[in-house]
Amino acid sequence: MSLTPLCNFIGGKYVPAKTDKFVDVINPATGRPVTRVPLSTATDLDDAVKVGKEAFELWSNMTMKQRAGIMFKFHELLDKHSEELVALIILENGKNAMEAAADIAKGNETVDWACGLPQAAAGRTLEVSRGIQCTESKEPLGVVGAIVPFNFPVMVPMWTLPISLVMGNCVILKPSEKVPMAMQRVSELLTEAGLPAGVFQIVHGAVDIVNAICEHPDISAVSFVGSSKVAEIVYNKCNALNKRVLCLGGAKNHLIALPDADVGMTTRDVVVSFAGCAGQRCMAASVLIVVGENQPLIDEIVSLAGKLEAGQGNGQVGPVIDHIARDRIVRYINDVEKSTTGAKILLDGRSWGQTRPDGFWVGPTVILHKSAEDAAMQDEIFGPVLSIIQVDSWDEAIAIENANPYGNAACIYTEKGANADWFTKRFRAAMLGVNIGIPVPREPFSFGGLYGTKSKYGNCDITGDGAMEFFSNRRKVTQKWTASYGTTAAPAAKRAKSDANSSGPADKANFDGRM
Ligand code: NAD
Repeated sequence: MSLTPLCNFIGGKYVPAKTDKFVDVINPATGRPVTRVPLSTATDLDDAVKVGKEAFELWSNMTMKQRAGIMFKFHELLDKHSEELVALIILENGKNAMEAAADIAKGNETVDWACGLPQAAAGRTLEVSRGIQCTESKEPLGVVGAIVPFNFPVMVPMWTLPISLVMGNCVILKPSEKVPMAMQRVSELLTEAGLPAGVFQIVHGAVDIVNAICEHPDISAVSFVGSSKVAEIVYNKCNALNKRVLCLGGAKNHLIALPDADVGMTTRDVVVSFAGCAGQRCMAASVLIVVGENQPLIDEIVSLAGKLEAGQGNGQVGPVIDHIARDRIVRYINDVEKSTTGAKILLDGRSWGQTRPDGFWVGPTVILHKSAEDAAMQDEIFGPVLSIIQVDSWDEAIAIENANPYGNAACIYTEKGANADWFTKRFRAAMLGVNIGIPVPREPFSFGGLYGTKSKYGNCDITGDGAMEFFSNRRKVTQKWTASYGTTAAPAAKRAKSDANSSGPADKANFDGRM
């Protein structure tokens, strides 16, 4: 059966890409293709940028309130069409139905916040010297590019779109070629909400189109979310061209359980964090550091994770995205069997793949380590694998977390506030949880790891307050007006004389040395 390929979304219409190269979009549960996505060319991008630049004239001249009004309608539409989007996310990504619904609902929370930007992003005016006012406003940048990963087909694009759009920018999105369908449908909902043609566009593709976005002279800013390797490439390319760029990369998130942690709550939370979304969350638990002897906690985690069932849509844990991901995860588990440092597999998820050879399945896996240097303790595996290590002291626990090259999320499990405080002051990661294994900061707080680590390249933020900064330029206008004393306007000649004599109050202030 030949599959009809997806089109780009340019100027408010579906437009076939000018390419003869396509890749299959695969249902990860079955391994079978469901559609094809074009590997667009630089010419396709050029077309979108031209249209985007024209649309920017109209869009940036609308008031922020008008733009937010369209986003408000879009918010309703996203909610109304949630079920059909859930079906697409299940098909292309493999999430279960609850996870797919959360993908949309969480994305829509950012839309919701963006509707309030007319208040949050309002400018400010201050009399900076007597008679002299300085006004600052946040002005849109122009056409911006957004490059996104496969793991949250709607939520991650929604980190960028609503805020950058309401700020007045036009956006060109490059969805992950593995999950292009949900956002294709979302583009129709944006149009239905009243977004003018060309304000939001989609150019499909992979490496080449990412490079073209970074290099295009008329794309003012690029936001990227994905692996650290590609984040670094995109960051360096854009920086070399003095382009504004923000790249969120990978993660290796550490959870620490103190002896006083509630075993039942900690168990449930850790299992949801490491096995939910098949471990394909940048916020997923990756390493659990158990302080002191706590065999009951380890036993319960293994027992609960071992009861999870496989299934697409209605299961508890879905497949991983593709055969590359499955093989990578399985390699880490295989390596434990050859461990020279005493690592042991406590729960082995490889059996899921053996009984379901057609899709890309790996079940929840728990590994007990004796060395923090083991590869599974160090690398981002991005699958449902939890590495556990036991240590004797708080200092040892925090040293392991601090030594990792990422800086995304971390969590402390304890019943005592002062204990939690000790850890939250010392963690390296930027998004911290106390008894919450997926500590996502919601707006107005910004999402993102620590700048300068493998989790974040670039300043500002992708959501929340910091995103207003990223998607705008601060324009400062300093004004001084000299009153023409009296009830009728002074004749021009008299006014000129008055100005030349610097007789207004503001000028006096200047001569008084108050500037
Ligand atoms: P990825 O880096 O492989 O792909 C991300 C995007 O980059 C895709 O659109 C892809 O087409 C493009 N791309 C891939 N290889 C490229 C290359 N060599 N040159 C240019 N572009 C390229 O990431 P992924 O596998 O789609 O997503 C998983 C990764 O994303 C994980 O590392 C995960 O931690 C990370 N992630 C991070 C966050 C965060 O907020 N920090 C959020 C979600 C996902």
